[in-house]
Formats: sequence, C-alpha cells, structure tokens
Amino acid sequence: MSHFIILGQDRPEMALCGICPDKGHCCRNFDSSLVYWDDASHEEVTRYMNFIANEQMPWIPLGPGPKRFVQNGRAYSHWLFDCPRIGSDGLCTDYANRPQACRTLIPGTVDVCVFQKIFPAHGKTEEIT
Ligand code: SF4
Ligand code: SF4
Repeated sequence: MSHFIILGQDRPEMALCGICPDKGHCCRNFDSSLVYWDDASHEEVTRYMNFIANEQMPWIPLGPGPKRFVQNGRAYSHWLFDCPRIGSDGLCTDYANRPQACRTLIPGTVDVCVFQKIFPAHGKTEEIT
C-alpha cells in the first residue's frame, strides 16, 4: 500500500471503521499499490513485498489487478492481495501484530476503503484560488 508513510493512528477517521458497512473490505482482494511484473511468480511478489515493507507480510498475492502498464513490451500492474488474518466478522484476528501498512492506513482516504469508493471526494484536498 502507498499508505506506508501516512500516520493513521489516533485520527478521527478511525471512527469510520466502527460504522463500516463492509468491515474488512480493505483486507480482501485489495490493491496494495505494490507494482510488479505481471509474469512474476507469487513467491517473487511476496519476496518483493516483504523487502519493500521491511517486514514479513501476511498478504497473499492473488494476481495483477486492473491498473496495468507496459514497459518495453512487458506488462506490470498493481497487484491484488488477500489477507488470511481477516476474521469472518471482518475484524483483524491479529490486530496487535498487524503490519505497519495496516497501522498507518487512514480510513476514507485510500482506495481500498469502502468509504473512499462510496464518497470518492472524501479526504481529497481542493485547490483554493
Ligand atoms: S478501513 Fe475502510 S473498509 Fe476497512 S474496515 Fe475501516 S472503514 Fe471499512
Ligand atoms: S493484518 Fe489485519 S488489518 Fe492488516 S490486512 Fe490483515 S486482517 Fe487486515
């Protein structure tokens, strides 16, 4: 996720998770914004993700997503992931040990959040002229 550098804890937006109509939406079949070659193996993508995150990530690569690019005839994409730690109730089953990317996600401001899909303008700044 590109959310590695955004500090999300103790933000008022965290209240959105309490009223989320699809808890855990952000942990299932999500675009982490990790970009990698379409023809890479899932093991290679996992190694790259762990390297970029600088920690062992629980996420399972599903495959290249719809955000796709081509360089010298070779395709690369934002890969999609599932997290096996999501419970059937939509809550994280290992919240205390969740990765930094999960800790820093700000609900409502990122594409993986259901509220960003419902209200895409939420969290975006407007230019004042
Ligand atoms: S981050 Fe968004 S999608 Fe995920 S549980 Fe919170 S409100 Fe729901
Ligand atoms: S570790 Fe927890 S919060 Fe992070 S993606 Fe998995 S289930 Fe969601």
